[in-house]
Amino acid sequence: MTSLTANWMDGEPYEGHYEKTSPLENPATGEVIGEVVHATPEDVEAIIASAKKASETWSQVSLAKRTAILFRFRELLVEHTDEIAEIVVREHGKVFSDAKGEVGRGLEVAEFACSIPTLLKGEFSDQAATGIDVYSFRQPVGVVAGITPFNFPVMIPLWMSPVAIATGNAFILKPPTRDPGAGMLLAKLWKKAGLPDGVFNVVHGDRSVISRLLTHPDIDAISFVGATTTAKIIFETGTKHGKRVQALGAAKNHGLVLADADLESTANNLIAAAYGAAGERCMALPVAVVQEEIADELVAKLVEKAKAVKVAEGMTPDADMGAIITKDAVERITGLITSAEEEGAEILVDGRNFTVEGYEGGNWLGPTLIDKVRPGMRVNQEELFGPTLEIIRVSGLEEGLALINGHEFGNGSAIFTSSGEAARTFTRGVEAGMVGVNVPIPVPVAWHSFGGWKESLVGETHIYGPEGVKFYTRGKVITQRWPRTTGGVSFHFSGDAQK
Ligand code: NAD
Repeated sequence: MTSLTANWMDGEPYEGHYEKTSPLENPATGEVIGEVVHATPEDVEAIIASAKKASETWSQVSLAKRTAILFRFRELLVEHTDEIAEIVVREHGKVFSDAKGEVGRGLEVAEFACSIPTLLKGEFSDQAATGIDVYSFRQPVGVVAGITPFNFPVMIPLWMSPVAIATGNAFILKPPTRDPGAGMLLAKLWKKAGLPDGVFNVVHGDRSVISRLLTHPDIDAISFVGATTTAKIIFETGTKHGKRVQALGAAKNHGLVLADADLESTANNLIAAAYGAAGERCMALPVAVVQEEIADELVAKLVEKAKAVKVAEGMTPDADMGAIITKDAVERITGLITSAEEEGAEILVDGRNFTVEGYEGGNWLGPTLIDKVRPGMRVNQEELFGPTLEIIRVSGLEEGLALINGHEFGNGSAIFTSSGEAARTFTRGVEAGMVGVNVPIPVPVAWHSFGGWKESLVGETHIYGPEGVKFYTRGKVITQRWPRTTGGVSFHFSGDAQK
């Protein structure tokens, strides 16, 4: 049975005037399980107008009332974790444990946002000049649009919406049409938590919908996460139309393995970081840069462990890795693996032409291990976003660090070593936004901000944490004097008056 996914406006589903829909498919079966409406220009206009109206009253709601709603929302996320994760499995294809992990990481941001009264405390300078106090505080920007990628359909909307809403803004989510269900459930949970109608909204569609969000005068800020090519379009168009824009892009994270690393735990870490969520993570670690003297030993362990990864439909107990998002993605990744072979790399574990019994209609790839990769190869230059692990051999720390810094992307990186000195040199020198030391996926916790460097970030703002609070608010500084006697107002701006 298929269902229709509508927009969400004024606290309820809103089908609007759609003329076009996108099919919603289960990646593990290939079956069409629903349709997603595409909002018309008229529908987008209505949703923005609803958000604008709601932002005007929501921005006036006390911090105490906002916080109470955030706490209830947090409780509802916990209560509905399994339900959300099941939707993610059905529409995205990742395994249930991973989908639950995604909810958990998003939940942390909701918890961070519960501390908004502390986060929004301003600053006060008593008696800055005689009889004059100066204080500063931050106010909401108005209406925020969040444009999100397919790979974390619940976590990334949660990177944005709790902070945007806690700071007093209305929020419009534009989720990918491939897996919008988790975003729709968030809308219901916000309503159940007591959020006033119109403060959280969802709009579906493609470029024409996004283009309206990027140019509309009543949208004040855009949060974007996705591919770098898209991030550039979003940033350029949004800023040209006077909006503040944060735009997080693609990744190709490299991890450096030195000879003094614990090889068994490093191998386990590399397997989880390369093949977890079928590599469809911006913090996946698809490239291991390995010190030559231990490379053969490490590779032997990786071959054995890669072959043991259990690929299955996401609800299967003990499944390690699920399906790939679309057939097009399978084809693209397969082509890049083949290009590596053609350019002289060795495919030690080959996940091409893979299928799962009973799910032959699904989009499958098995774990793939590619040895003897060199930096100029296409497979290393591009983001595969699939279950692949490349091995590049280097002489040691200096060569490895230079190689990693030579790559255009700088989202995350990691070093595996038992040397504090090597780790310190690496963490200080590596050109990436998030760095792990014996930690393969260094995603910062919610009270630090998240974001990359170089081509992995367009503009300069990272997401959630303190940078999120700043992004969704504008600073205001008040200089105040309350003269004891009336009638003493000076109209002259002079240095003397301030002393
Ligand atoms: P995508 O860029 O194709 O899509 C992201 C969003 O942008 C979607 O909502 C989509 O509808 C919209 N979009 C796509 N093309 C557009 C265009 N031409 N104009 C306007 N809007 C457009 O990304 P994706 O395939 O959904 O997600 C995978 C990508 O996201 C990978 O590159 C991955 O590295 C990246 N990603 C980055 C981070 C990070 O934190 N840096 C996190 C997750 C994913």
